[in-house]
Amino acid sequence: MIKRYKTKKIYVGNVPIGGDSPISVQSMTYSKTSDINATVEQIKALHFAGADIVRVAVPDMAAANALKTIKEQTTLPLVADIHFNYKLALIAAESVDCIRINPGNIGDKTRVKEIVKACQERNLPIRIGINCGSLEEQFENKYGQTAQGMVASAQYNIQFLEDLGFTDIKISLKASDVQRTVEAYRLLRPLNAYPFHLGVTEAGTLFHSTIKSSIALGSLLLDGIGDTLRVSITGELEKEIEVGRAILKDAGLIKEGLNIISCPTCGRIEADLVDAVAQVEEKTKHIKTPLNVSVMGCVVNALGEAKSADVAIAYGKGSGLIIKKGETIAKLPTQELLERFLKEVEEEAKKNS
Ligand code: SF4
Repeated sequence: MIKRYKTKKIYVGNVPIGGDSPISVQSMTYSKTSDINATVEQIKALHFAGADIVRVAVPDMAAANALKTIKEQTTLPLVADIHFNYKLALIAAESVDCIRINPGNIGDKTRVKEIVKACQERNLPIRIGINCGSLEEQFENKYGQTAQGMVASAQYNIQFLEDLGFTDIKISLKASDVQRTVEAYRLLRPLNAYPFHLGVTEAGTLFHSTIKSSIALGSLLLDGIGDTLRVSITGELEKEIEVGRAILKDAGLIKEGLNIISCPTCGRIEADLVDAVAQVEEKTKHIKTPLNVSVMGCVVNALGEAKSADVAIAYGKGSGLIIKKGETIAKLPTQELLERFLKEVEEEAKKNS
């Protein structure tokens, strides 16, 4: 059982983050935010994929000015991502649900003060988004681009906001590699109670990011660290949500859909398991009820796995078994097994929904 760190609960729009709230999954659009139609399309795609929150880049005045119209066309909470120009944050604050700043590049603290004031007036939270590659000079000079440097920067900026009476804060500490990312979050976690936004930045393509994010976010989540997360994948939208939710599911932090146990296959295999499992994945995508199912290529481990599965197939020579909650309910020719299995899964899902 994972014991999550007790953190302060804040709200990004209507989505709670921290405290006992479910861990939310976010992503970020990659359209030019000033292209309102394209951005709304991407937000809708993310919403459909199951995103809880969406972040949009605000690199210029055209993007900042587009936010009001974008916000009118979506119900997903929006986070404005601000670098360098604090004035963009002041405009964004009029429309969005949260402001993300990178204190390392906003510059003079009077500018951060202005942003805090705008957020205070509208009850908006601020994400202090520390990136290892863009630490403030004093921290980079002292610590280099290290976890310690990120933590020092975070603490400095938390203190700065607290001194202004602002505590609706969440924090991210992102490096582009697993070790520094995990170290930074672990170092900072005992030092405050603000919710953490987890992520490995610039994590690469689908394959590499999935591995890096699974290791880093998985390690932290199993330590009870993390209140919201983003998996960064080059040029992907919906996959970021899919991978993020899968990490939460496989860490045991959410229960949704099928947990499919399938064997890796070997020379003992008695059926086309690769095709069977692909069909199971495809034809059960719509099921949100949490179910354990197992699809195994021969009897060696199938009966053992079936004991803890809601529904299972154990392939044998020319025929196989359908097993439900440990009980064999049918012995059928191989070609009939999949259809019966899917029927039983649908029934079980309905019964438990
Ligand atoms: S279940 Fe059977 S086919 Fe699958 S890996 Fe194990 S021994 Fe091989």
